[in-house]
Amino acid sequence: MQCDMCGATGEIYRAEIEGTELQVCESCASLGRVIGRVEQPEALRRRKARPSPQERPRLPARRNETIQVIVDGYAGIVKAARERIGLKQKELAMRIAEKESLIHNIESGHFEPGIGLARKLERFLKVSLIEDHEETHDGAFSAGGEDVTLGDVIRIKRRG
Ligand SMILES: [Zn+2]
Repeated sequence: MQCDMCGATGEIYRAEIEGTELQVCESCASLGRVIGRVEQPEALRRRKARPSPQERPRLPARRNETIQVIVDGYAGIVKAARERIGLKQKELAMRIAEKESLIHNIESGHFEPGIGLARKLERFLKVSLIEDHEETHDGAFSAGGEDVTLGDVIRIKRRG
């Protein structure tokens, strides 16, 4: 509740000023004829001035999400499986229509395959390269450790 004339807050009075009834502060009311006082509970005035903490926007609710990630030992798994079926890197590359350098980089651990490529290798080599990873979100991605970061998630999706 504010003074109709000057915008001041505080005690507000109903006053007749120049023939018009207004709700004004004490000093503006003195310019005219006070009719009465406008009752305003203290609590109501305080709530309007300052939003309570409960009214602030909340963080997203905590939720679990399962994403697919490439297993840690993918390099050794691919190499061992390829050698087991007696193929050279170049031969494996030809069979799955990929470049030899790609197979080399995967087996040396320099290139982590995306989900799509990993599935192709899984089918051909009869191995398991993808595992489900349960991610718990509580509003922020944690940094470091073994957690999959947002960057990893984007990378996996782009490659897949
Ligand atoms: Zn006033």
